[in-house]
Amino acid sequence: TTALLWFRRDLRLADLPPLADAADAADQVLAVFVLDPTLTKSSGARRLQFLHDALRALDDDLGGRLLVVRGKPENQIPRIAKAVSATSVHVSEDFLPYGRRRDEKVSDALGDTELVGHGSPYAVSPGQVTKNDGTPYKVFTPYFRAWQERGWHSPATTSAKTATWLDPDDVSGVSRASIPDEGVELILPAGEKAARKRWSEFLDEGITGYADDRDRPDLDAGSRMSSYLKYGNIHPRTLLADLAGRRGEGAKAYARELAFRDFYADVVYHWPRSTWHNWNRNFDDIPLDDGADAKKRFEAWTKGETGYPIVDAGMRQLSETGFMHNRVRMVVASFLVKDLHLPWWWGAQYFLDQLIDGDMASNQHGWQWAAGTGTDAAPYFRVFNPTTQGQRFDPQGDYVRRWVPELAEIAGKSVHDPGDDRPSDYPAPMVDHKAERREALDRYGTVSG
Ligand code: FAD
Repeated sequence: TTALLWFRRDLRLADLPPLADAADAADQVLAVFVLDPTLTKSSGARRLQFLHDALRALDDDLGGRLLVVRGKPENQIPRIAKAVSATSVHVSEDFLPYGRRRDEKVSDALGDTELVGHGSPYAVSPGQVTKNDGTPYKVFTPYFRAWQERGWHSPATTSAKTATWLDPDDVSGVSRASIPDEGVELILPAGEKAARKRWSEFLDEGITGYADDRDRPDLDAGSRMSSYLKYGNIHPRTLLADLAGRRGEGAKAYARELAFRDFYADVVYHWPRSTWHNWNRNFDDIPLDDGADAKKRFEAWTKGETGYPIVDAGMRQLSETGFMHNRVRMVVASFLVKDLHLPWWWGAQYFLDQLIDGDMASNQHGWQWAAGTGTDAAPYFRVFNPTTQGQRFDPQGDYVRRWVPELAEIAGKSVHDPGDDRPSDYPAPMVDHKAERREALDRYGTVSG
């Protein structure tokens, strides 16, 4: 007998409950990945490169026995299941809106062959942490408390050896697609081994200082695990198990960030509409700019030509590497919404195109937080000042100089506010922050005051 193990956002072999299930369910397991055009067309080249590299790594770990096909999953999975007379199909559950719709279609199309979900890309799956009355949390802190109380499973002990793998070349009637290569160089290698290596380096070198330094883009003190978590090259449960044995603020602060990731997935699970619309509909009537001039301002923002050094540094880090530091994500998002008065979903779309870790839950709700329209969002009247944010979190200006070469000659902190030293090839501030702050408060005040 054969069971299918259908990989999606869980491109690893360790700590993978559906792998154990598939091995229990049948004599041999066929590993499958479907290149789904609906998902690939909405991913930028860097994220695709990461996904494809992760698939190559997984295929290697399986001794070349990953069956990759291209097409709609609701056509491909039943076709493959039929070709091998699969007894069941095993997956980690996907809780994002597209994944849920897709899995319903696949399950219907499979007929009597069961689609068995076990686990998810989260430590605690969406829908599991609720208030006593069964309703979802809207505020992070009480969610976090309940999340900790609920706890999570220990890592599952799976590996390539858990199953006997069916060689896809022995399956007739299915054509293997080759794994594409976008020809893009990445700052981080993809795949399970790379994820483990990065994580163990971070545990050795980064976790102790994490709580103090995580807000400092110049120190680059983050773990860079986001892309690995996005594609499931490592499971958050594995990270939490490693953190559990450690004392200190760093481990605590890190677990809290993983809880944020779970929280936003939970919010999207309960309010799928919030991926592209204000979670808090009170803000639906805020006047936003969207004409030709707005598009020009948007373009200056994407290019990192706003004249605000920390904003430009962040936007250039993003377009050059597919990554941006968390603090700077908050600053550039606030700038787009509160200084340029543009819709947050324009920025969110651009981020999804550019980010390797681009994720429908963390990204959309990171944006809604900055816009003040989300659950538990920054209050709309707290407007980040891009200059003081730069001075505070990039105190020597190293981050700005790294990404904005026009400013490389300006020493120290004054790079954030160069005044008369502003080089001629670097733009003047495109807006006056003080005036736009007042404008934002007026606009928000009309609906929420
Ligand atoms: P670390 O500081 O090492 O954090 C550890 C892990 O915790 C991260 O890998 C991530 O999985 C999780 N995490 C940390 N902060 C957050 C957060 N605020 N929300 C949710 N999870 C978090 N994160 C994404 O993974 N994908 C996105 O598309 C994304 N878009 C964002 C957009 C905006 C406007 C903002 C403000 C934040 C966004 N984030 C997103 C959250 C955060 O910026 C990134 O997770 C973080 O910068 C990744 O770097 P790291 O792995 O070094 O983080």
